[in-house]
This record gives sequence, structure tokens and C-alpha cells, in this order.
Amino acid sequence: MRLVLLGPPGAGKGTQAQRLVDRHNIVQLSTGDMLRAAVQAGTPIGLQAKAVMESGGLVSDEIVIGIIADRIAEPDAKNGFILDGFPRTVAQAEALDRLLEEKGLELDAVVELVVDQDKLVNRILNRAAEAQAKGEAVRKDDDPEVFKTRLEAYNRDTSIVAPYYHKKGQLQRIDGMKPIHEVSSSLDEVLGK
Ligand code: AMP
Repeated sequence: MRLVLLGPPGAGKGTQAQRLVDRHNIVQLSTGDMLRAAVQAGTPIGLQAKAVMESGGLVSDEIVIGIIADRIAEPDAKNGFILDGFPRTVAQAEALDRLLEEKGLELDAVVELVVDQDKLVNRILNRAAEAQAKGEAVRKDDDPEVFKTRLEAYNRDTSIVAPYYHKKGQLQRIDGMKPIHEVSSSLDEVLGK
């Protein structure tokens, strides 16, 4: 199964992707996780991405498209994948279409988690508090001010990605404000269709 999960930061894409990974034996390809790993490792890409990520902006299309092209070609992605946090611009969505076409592959589903943006800042504060309670690192960009910039980037550049898939007849939308297990059930329903 090849799936794209769309929705603003804090919509629950990572949480839902993880549940699908466990159930469907596919890999989660999160460009955010890959970029954070690159920053941590101090690679050339990480060095370029660090300041942009910390400010809540978007890393260049060229960098993330390159990362995804390489990652999709890895053997463990053969069985299927969930794209989480990619595509974030129409240029990225078009590049993904080309990449898949070259490989003779298609997306099985594009699902948007629809959320109330006014409630997201609270969600993100909870995420930071939970991480802290578990002794895990708190993401620097989960700071409320940076989070607002991330939401702005979403509304400016990424909110047009869902309509892009809608026009192609590929978009399915589900309510992302419900409790986690209910969102999971809605996703299963959509994917089972
Ligand atoms: P995320 O973990 O998906 O919230 O991503 C964290 C940060 O990584 C974002 O705020 C961006 O700075 C960067 N990022 C992740 N995915 C992308 C993407 N597809 N395009 C551009 N920047 C990205």
C-alpha cells in the first residue's frame, strides 16, 4: 500500500502513520524525521536545513524531493510506504507523481486529516509536555511561537496540496479531531474501500 497523509502540523499524521506501519507492514517515510536525523548527524543537508527548521519555515523542494527519491528506492519501501509530511508544496506533489510514474507505481490513497487549527496549539503543548514526562527530547519547533510560523507555512504553501489531489479524484478526507483510535478506525474504513 502506498499512501499520502496530509494535514497541518499537529494533526496527528505521525501517530496515525505509526499505527498503520504496525498493521500493514509498510514503512513510514517522514521527511521531518529524516531531516531531523540529518541535522543530528551534521550532514551537508542537515547543515542547510537546520536554521530553516528551527524557524518553522520549509526546507527547499530540491532537498526534500532528493531525500524522498532516494528513500523510495530503498528495498524496504518496496512493500509500500506512508508519506508523512511530504508533499508539502504543489511542486513536491508534482515531483512525486513523476517519481512514481517512472517506477510504474501509483498511490493507493491520499488522506487528509481535517482539524480545527485553533485547537492545534494546545495539542502541540500537550505533545511537548508528554515528551518531557517520558524523558524524551522536546522538539525545538514545538515552541508555541515557532509552531505558529509552521502553521503559517502550512496555510501559505501546503494547504493547496489537498485540492491538487482532489482535482485528480484521489483525495479522501477524515475528521482528525476525534480520539486517536476513532481516527484510526476512520482511516481503516477509507483504506479498506
Ligand atoms: P514535521 O516533522 O513534518 O513537522 O517537519 C518538521 C520540519 O521539517 C518542518 O517544519 C520543515 O521545516 C521541515 N520539513 C519536513 N518535511 C518537509 C517538506 N516536505 N518540505 C519542506 N520542509 C519540510
